[in-house]
Amino acid sequence: MGRKLTAYRMEDLKRIERAAIQRAESAKTAQEIATIRADVLGKKGELGTVLRSLGSLSAEERPKVGQQINTSKSRIEAALEAAMVRVEKGRLEEELVAGRFDVTLPGRVVTMGSPHPLRIVERDVIATLLPLGFTVAQGPLVEHDWYNFGALNFPPDHPARDQQDTLFVSDEVLLRTHTSNVQVRTMCKQKPPVRVLAPGMVFRRDELDATHSPTFHQIEGLWVDGHTTFAHLKGVLRRFAENLFGPETRVRFRPSFFPFTEPSTEMDVSCVGCGGTGGGCRICKGTGWLEILGAGMVDPAVLEAVGYDPEQVQGFAFGMGIERIAILRWGVEDIRLFYENDVRFLRQFSGNP
Ligand SMILES: [Zn+2]
Repeated sequence: MGRKLTAYRMEDLKRIERAAIQRAESAKTAQEIATIRADVLGKKGELGTVLRSLGSLSAEERPKVGQQINTSKSRIEAALEAAMVRVEKGRLEEELVAGRFDVTLPGRVVTMGSPHPLRIVERDVIATLLPLGFTVAQGPLVEHDWYNFGALNFPPDHPARDQQDTLFVSDEVLLRTHTSNVQVRTMCKQKPPVRVLAPGMVFRRDELDATHSPTFHQIEGLWVDGHTTFAHLKGVLRRFAENLFGPETRVRFRPSFFPFTEPSTEMDVSCVGCGGTGGGCRICKGTGWLEILGAGMVDPAVLEAVGYDPEQVQGFAFGMGIERIAILRWGVEDIRLFYENDVRFLRQFSGNP
């Protein structure tokens, strides 16, 4: 009789195990799995019922059924665990679909910016001159007349001081017409030797058209030291031109006039378009030469104005338009393109000529 009861219990256990594993395999949610666990393994679950009935078995038979309970329990637990993994994986996949994550769609392109062409030129000019010992300085865009004109030997009636040419804020304050104010400010606070570059934005009273803009960019250089001569000026600027436009570049100096330099000169470089041969070249209009910058020996009156002794120190200065060099370098035909910030234009400049 005892043996028969044991056989029933063993059969019950196997039936419970089979049914539980089957339910686990077809479960679709974590909640369903939790329900199966409670039904079978819970305190009042099916295995518990069998466990409580062990008392009706003989001491001899009890361990056999007890062992089967443990075996069934761990098999059911393994089945529930596997079901949980399967359900969780399915849920993640559903979430991805619900999130409309379509891996076949093209990715979102991260657009890279590029330096503005005027910045590229400014950067290259500075890089060319830094090895010669220059440093870069900046100064105010809104300036007192003295730093922009007075200290630079502009007489009171000079036409540049006319309101037709210069944007005045008040009688004595204006938007700087060149970056020379930085030269003056540097010399006022620093004893020679001075080697300084002044890049930046300048302002003139001009109508905006293809070749003029009321706002444009310059870079100026100033070199002051004892025994500085015109030969130094020529050497530095020739080196500069060769570095910026290529080693085969030739330069020529023509006499000119500026209030703040004496003697003054304009430097031309052999044309970047035709290599200086001229003949039908649109860039140099057939002359073979391109006007690049103005320069000269610093006028003794300027040195005196900033408190230097012209008997002890001399210097030279030069200045050029950033737009002009960019126009020559890339053949840009309308200066307004530099200020309109049209990305279709700006995207064409990578920094390399
Ligand atoms: Zn040419």
